[in-house]
Amino acid sequence: MQICRTKTAIRARITDWRSTGAPVVLVPTMGFLHDGHLSLMRLARARAGEQGRVVASIFVNPTQFGPNEDFESYPRDEARDFDLLRSEGVDAVFAPDIAEVYDPQAQTIVETTELAKVLIGKLRPGHFRGVATVVTKLFNIIRPDAAVFGEKDYQQLAVLRTMARDLDMGVEIIGAPIQREADGLAMSSRNVRLSPADRAAAPVLARALDQAEIMAPTGITASRLRSHVRATLEGEPRARVQSVDIRDAATLDTIAGPLTRPAVILLAVSFGKVFLIDNRVVHPTPPEEP
Ligand code: AMP
Repeated sequence: MQICRTKTAIRARITDWRSTGAPVVLVPTMGFLHDGHLSLMRLARARAGEQGRVVASIFVNPTQFGPNEDFESYPRDEARDFDLLRSEGVDAVFAPDIAEVYDPQAQTIVETTELAKVLIGKLRPGHFRGVATVVTKLFNIIRPDAAVFGEKDYQQLAVLRTMARDLDMGVEIIGAPIQREADGLAMSSRNVRLSPADRAAAPVLARALDQAEIMAPTGITASRLRSHVRATLEGEPRARVQSVDIRDAATLDTIAGPLTRPAVILLAVSFGKVFLIDNRVVHPTPPEEP
């Protein structure tokens, strides 16, 4: 596995690969990898094929963190990450430092004007501008045929699909299902920062989503479903509920009245200083019997 620290090094490597006509698939991450990330690497390999190339990036992107967020304390372990990527058969990793990515004179940003303002964008102003800008830069540096992102960050996936479409980026955006711990907690690099008591309490997010999935096909309205989910979360005294939203799964538009189309339930909950998100797509009709 090639470890590239500079844009020049990764570009040279990819130019060589491209000349053989093999597809290049990118998996952007912020490192401190877990099985959720590794599932993305496997999906990337499936898309690239044995002849294709899988490139991961590891970059804790400062521009997507707010001033009082956890950029400094975000967990990092590059040596372990490289070992995991190697064992997944990843062909190259782009792991630049901040100065390699951001010129202090830079003045260009990428923003999905509407999607960046709502939901997580409201809780974390500027977050999606940071994400869209850095992903654009990664796309321009690596020029992948496809890129894989997790459904765990549902709104991020919507932002990036919209961005790639609006700006004719020519990069296929592939969504990957959420990977969970045995007790249902969605895997996240931030989970290691939960205290033992908070770690024990955190599966309440998955429990609330399980209940919502069962209630969704009963003709319930979006606002009643939202109240139920919020009540379940608030039943856990360690949880500080930041937001509970039920939106159209395809457009992220608000829903009035009963569910009539697939909806996504989006949760943001803090435990101490640790900010967790989770989501589930639910359906207004029960799944058909096989
Ligand atoms: P991060 O390192 O947190 O920026 O995540 C890198 C990529 O991995 C993003 O596309 C995330 O959506 C995805 N990801 C993170 N956690 C999970 C998970 N539990 N299951 C699936 N994908 C995930």
